Amino acid sequence: MNPLYQDMPVSIFAHMSALAVEHKAVNLGQGFPDFGWPEDVLAKAAEAVTHGSNQYAPMLGLPPLREAVAAHYGRHQGLEVDPAEVTVTSGATEALAAAILALVSPGDEVLLFQPLYDAYLPLVLRAGGVPRFVRLAPPDWRITAEALAEAFTPRTRLVIFNNPHNPTARVFTQGELALLAEACVAHDAIALTDEVWEHLVFDGRAHLPLASLAGMAARTVKVGSAGKIFSLTGWKVGWILAPRRLGEPIAKAHQYLAYATPPNLQAAVAYGLAKEQAYFDTMRAAFAAARDGLAERLRAIGYAPLPAEGSYFVDVDLTASGIAADDASFCERAVREAGVAAIPLAPFYAERPVTNIVRLCFAKREETLAAGLDALARARELMRGP
Ligand code: PMP
Ligand code: GLN
Repeated sequence: MNPLYQDMPVSIFAHMSALAVEHKAVNLGQGFPDFGWPEDVLAKAAEAVTHGSNQYAPMLGLPPLREAVAAHYGRHQGLEVDPAEVTVTSGATEALAAAILALVSPGDEVLLFQPLYDAYLPLVLRAGGVPRFVRLAPPDWRITAEALAEAFTPRTRLVIFNNPHNPTARVFTQGELALLAEACVAHDAIALTDEVWEHLVFDGRAHLPLASLAGMAARTVKVGSAGKIFSLTGWKVGWILAPRRLGEPIAKAHQYLAYATPPNLQAAVAYGLAKEQAYFDTMRAAFAAARDGLAERLRAIGYAPLPAEGSYFVDVDLTASGIAADDASFCERAVREAGVAAIPLAPFYAERPVTNIVRLCFAKREETLAAGLDALARARELMRGP
């Protein structure tokens, strides 16, 4: 067995979701919505299952989806994308795996921002990459020129950058992106940008793809996911946008990971990506309202939520909430004894974890949030400090 996997814990998302089922707890842990998916996109998928092909899709993806992805980014983010630069994958997870396997050779340094989405590091290590971390510090989780200068070296091959950021819910500013772009150009590094939360940015923010910054189009591999755009996380339809020189080796990695992605879901996503602006505005407004509702009521029961600029998540500072337990103990007791699942932040660190913050998913119906908040109030009573 490869030693990397021998002592590896089960992903915190799988762990907490299994506990939520076992203890019949409200699941505010793993990030999935319990409302908000478009019925017409479901109908398209059903029609494609019944009347379309159920055989292997083309390896690079259905042409109508590759065209729809290219057009979507032109319309929403001003990117000029040739459909030939799009590879459809089985979720963003497979896209990340294919990109990391194809771009990282043993000994290459890979820059990661910590806290980091849990899939990145095992893939980098399995590819033989040498991780270097840029630490983002709460409560503002900012990228600074000093931190980048310390982490980049002449051996930096790849930078894995997630924006909007899970688990901090940050949307990085144009200034922060400019610092990163300058460093990538100066070090001739490739950027792998995980932008799965690109449509979930709130309070009038616009998503700025790293690829749009000066010097970045030719060195950026952008990853997206239909799961987040259509509130259908189980679909696992994602994609990669990359200039040919990078996209071609990545497609070769993809051909021996998943090879192809269910054609009927691809057809429905192609249809959905062409939706009018109103769909995206309405979705964003609904999730922003859910975020506000959760944050406000968390404060009312004594919790201290951190700002949440994008994604499905609000983080809570346990110390500032008067709770003595660390994040892992809080989450273990909350799900078993109080009936609510949350996600600790410590597993998003490879070293020196922050241990007093937990993540809550607000992409839930009113009744789910209400039940979750009742349970969180119980959890606070159980674990309040002296
Ligand atoms: N990257 C980030 C930052 C995520 O939050 C997630 C899942 N929420 C993924 C990748 C995985 O996306 P998918 O489900 O499309 O594989
Ligand atoms: N991305 C989801 C989250 O952050 C989890 C995805 C998964 O469970 N692999 O909650």
